[in-house]
Amino acid sequence: MTNITEQLTQQLSEQAREAMKKAYVPYSNFRVGAALLDEHGHIHQGCNVENGAYSPCNCAERTALFRAIADGCAPRSFQAILVVGDTAGPISPCGVCRQVLSELCSPDMPVIMTNLTGARSVMTVSELLPGAFSLESRPDEGKATL
Ligand SMILES: [Zn+2]
Repeated sequence: MTNITEQLTQQLSEQAREAMKKAYVPYSNFRVGAALLDEHGHIHQGCNVENGAYSPCNCAERTALFRAIADGCAPRSFQAILVVGDTAGPISPCGVCRQVLSELCSPDMPVIMTNLTGARSVMTVSELLPGAFSLESRPDEGKATL
C-alpha cells in the first residue's frame, strides 16, 4: 500500500469535508464527500448527487473518480482516496463504488474511510473488493466479439 503522510491525509480530509458541503441530497439529506489524490499531487473533490428517479444517483467516490478521468487523469494513476460521511464509524464505500475503484485504481491504493468525529479506517482497493469483476479476465481480453 502506498504510504500517505498524515499531513496529506489531513489535506484530503479538509477537501473531502469541503466537497461534502456541495452534495446534492434533497431526498436522503445524507451528505458524503470524497477527495482523490492523483499522481501529480492534485486533489479532485467528489460529492454525492441524487436524483428524483433514484437510480441515477451518484456517490461521492465515483463523482471524484469520473471527474478526475474527465480532467485527463490516467486510470490506475491515483495515489489515494479519502471518503467522509456523517456515520457512526468510518464510512464504507458501496458495492458499486468498490467495483469502479477496482477498475480505475491500483489494487494496492489506499482507501481512507472516515467520519465527522475523526474515526478512520484504511483498506486497499483489493481488500475492499476481492475477486472484483474485470473484462480483462475474459479469454478474449475484453475485446468485443460481435
Ligand atoms: Zn458508492
